[in-house]
Amino acid sequence: MILTRSQGERLAVIINASRPEWAIPSIAKILQTANQSNGLPAHDFNHAIRAVVAYATATVAGGEYVKQTPGFIHEPSRFWDDTAPTGKGYKSAPRVMCEEHSTYEAHSCSCCWADVNVGERTESQVGKRLHPAHPPNPGKAQAVKQAIKTLQAAQH
Ligand SMILES: [Zn+2]
Repeated sequence: MILTRSQGERLAVIINASRPEWAIPSIAKILQTANQSNGLPAHDFNHAIRAVVAYATATVAGGEYVKQTPGFIHEPSRFWDDTAPTGKGYKSAPRVMCEEHSTYEAHSCSCCWADVNVGERTESQVGKRLHPAHPPNPGKAQAVKQAIKTLQAAQH
């Protein structure tokens, strides 16, 4: 959904009330950027309120917050799915998967973020393919199998 100016301002205040360390101007910028493309993955404004509060206040078993920044609050996620109105035919938006680690969502791929942390990838490269897929190499696999057989034979 595309937010009206008033809805965007109210949502930014609600998010900031949930997590005061997330400044309203940066929240507003994220919401504006989302508004300029596909909008929020929300059925209606009440759904948006429930989803952003769920995102902002979710904690892990130890009590720490799941989300450290509001950066991906507008992306389709379980927070939007879990708070969708029932019986309204809400369908979760398709998830964009990481091009390199296909079991992870592109924006939150933990493999890519680990690369960012060690300087092997920039934040703009998260979810993107950096390395070409390795072509299968049956000859080498066969050579390794043969070497293992030879070693096993030598041990007997
Ligand atoms: Zn990845």
